Amino acid sequence: MPSGKPRKSKVEKVFEALASSRGPDECWEWPGHRSVHGNYGRIGDARAHRVVYERYVGPIPGRLQVRHTCDNPPCVNPRHLLLGTVADIMADRSARGRTYRPKLTPEQARAVFVSSSGRRATAVRFGVTETVVKRIWRREYWRDATHGLVRPTKPGV
Ligand SMILES: [Zn+2]
Repeated sequence: MPSGKPRKSKVEKVFEALASSRGPDECWEWPGHRSVHGNYGRIGDARAHRVVYERYVGPIPGRLQVRHTCDNPPCVNPRHLLLGTVADIMADRSARGRTYRPKLTPEQARAVFVSSSGRRATAVRFGVTETVVKRIWRREYWRDATHGLVRPTKPGV
């Protein structure tokens, strides 16, 4: 190992490549692993957006959570990350509707679109039919809401 200036970590290299390939206001979706629950980018056992927040924005005090203003879990664009309390997270969840709803909100449609679960699992999770999921994935439904999002590379269909 040469001594001297510190080498960039793998996380820094990946982040900087992502930052230079995307517009400043676009969602920067973590290109590595995704968590099974919630579709967050994963770095080892940590959530990528939390790692990025701590490294490039600042410490995450106490029990605060890092929320996405863009509702796009794999996004690590620091401009889309915001500290929040558990109460904020609960409010977000209730606003998105964890209980069955026949109609999706645009936020839910985006979450369906970026879901890396299978079509059936995604349908069950959002309380819609598999046809609705399929049409969202094909951009036949919610085309505007999902504009600019990228489907995970390995769709579970
Ligand atoms: Zn974003």
